[in-house]
Amino acid sequence: MVVGDISTGTDVLVIGGGPGGYVAAIRAAQRGLDTTLVEKDDYGGVCLNRGCIPSKALITGADLAHEAGNAEEMGIHADPAVDMAQMVGWKDGIVDRLTGGVEKLCKANGVNLVKGTARFKDENSVRVAHGGEGQGSESIEFDSCIVATGSRPIEIPNFSYADDPVIGSREALDMDTIPERLVVVGAGYIGMELSTVYAKLGTDVTVVEMLDDALPGYEDDVANVVKRRAKELGIEFHFGEGASEWRDSSDGGITVVTETEDGEESTYPADKVLVAVGRSPVTDTLGLDAIDLEPNERGFLETDDYARTDIDHVFAVGDVAGEPMLAHKAFKEGIVAAEVIAGEPAALDYQAVPAAVFTDPEIATVGMTEAEAEEAGFEPVVGQMPFNASGRAMTTGHTEGFCRLVADEDSGFVLGGQIVGPEASELIAEVALAVEMGATLEDVAATIHTHPTLAEVVQEAAENAEDQAIHTLNR
Ligand SMILES: Cc1cc2nc3c(=O)[nH]c(=O)nc-3n(C[C@H](O)[C@H](O)[C@H](O)COP(=O)(O)OP(=O)(O)OC[C@H]3O[C@@H](n4cnc5c(N)ncnc54)[C@H](O)[C@@H]3O)c2cc1C
Repeated sequence: MVVGDISTGTDVLVIGGGPGGYVAAIRAAQRGLDTTLVEKDDYGGVCLNRGCIPSKALITGADLAHEAGNAEEMGIHADPAVDMAQMVGWKDGIVDRLTGGVEKLCKANGVNLVKGTARFKDENSVRVAHGGEGQGSESIEFDSCIVATGSRPIEIPNFSYADDPVIGSREALDMDTIPERLVVVGAGYIGMELSTVYAKLGTDVTVVEMLDDALPGYEDDVANVVKRRAKELGIEFHFGEGASEWRDSSDGGITVVTETEDGEESTYPADKVLVAVGRSPVTDTLGLDAIDLEPNERGFLETDDYARTDIDHVFAVGDVAGEPMLAHKAFKEGIVAAEVIAGEPAALDYQAVPAAVFTDPEIATVGMTEAEAEEAGFEPVVGQMPFNASGRAMTTGHTEGFCRLVADEDSGFVLGGQIVGPEASELIAEVALAVEMGATLEDVAATIHTHPTLAEVVQEAAENAEDQAIHTLNR
């Protein structure tokens, strides 16, 4: 023990107060375990402070401004002026309410909250450095530990986040003025969401991507709907180009230089360059050497079906435990880890993890694609309903995209779904429930859906798979 250390003990120590960690801590405390949560920064982690929630707040703000300014067809003539500082302030208010709520919920459930950075001393204790001069440190002994330290943005060579014109997603959510020109490096989901926000706010957005397409991992016909709309919004794409450096330019802005695999250079003028090339797990500050636990070659802590690492009483959840790096996957893993520690028969099941991209239109998927179903040995049957055949979609002015259901032809079990279109992120919940509970196409088709709603597209996709569709032609 170092001078000034105090030492305490706890049944469960949770490191990191993001969606994985705070949910794990609350559930462990609910199960009667003495639980301590150590967070070095803000409760709510990336999700509440600089990820899911703030990005969705700005997406809503940018959507409203854009819709209001583009609704002549509906007889609305407006030219909205956006006060970006005020919009960011509104977003911060939401973040404050939610992060304050997490702290209150933890306390109300009896979780002991400790502010500081935790580092393993050995397999049953950590030292927590409180940070700041004279604030000292404390040792905490534990029976079980849940590591939930999350992830941070990847930095690429020559684009240091310390340089003012280079920004990551965090800074992109905190700009109090709207840049005239933005180069976005990376066309994954974070790059595409933020490109859409700024394009709608009037920024000239250029996206450069090393791969030959946007939104890798999504089927072509799904990603194409979003790319087409992005181009309509004025977003310019350059595929097969990696950002190599940036330099100041004579007009007071910057020039972003890109290079193809063959060494061909291009330059793009900008005021800011947003680097969104992915995130890497945070394990380097944990002192893992002290417990003989090594991340895998991608930097993640490997876990079994019970969220357990190679060390029996050390668990890992959320982004640090691997893909998909999504808040709801972190929630689920946190709950499973806590329940396993409490001796309950919990286990992870990843067959129905939905994923959503909040672009215009949104993409949301769950379970298997048709190709994945084939690969898994099923004989898939597919049903599809376009939003342009939905009365409700027409009344919202958004008719791009479709809902597709993939089912097993033999049994009718719904294996997955892909939705690209308005409110896809909400609609996917029905498909996720169908996959999770083993519902059949017939179950979905026979469920009476409210009319007129967007959710009817899910029912119609099921009917289409059974050649029973009324409002669209059967396959
Ligand atoms: C711009 C953006 C938008 C996103 N949008 C979505 C979305 O719409 N939907 C979705 O599902 N996901 C989204 N995500 C991803 C989501 O934010 C993450 O998957 C989620 O936050 C992971 O939760 P976590 O608990 O694993 O880690 P984090 O949220 O990263 O939390 C980890 C916490 O651990 C703390 N910590 C780290 N090391 C230590 C230590 N040694 N001691 C003490 N504390 C420590 C950190 O300060 C942090 O608070 C988005 C991410 C970004 C960046």
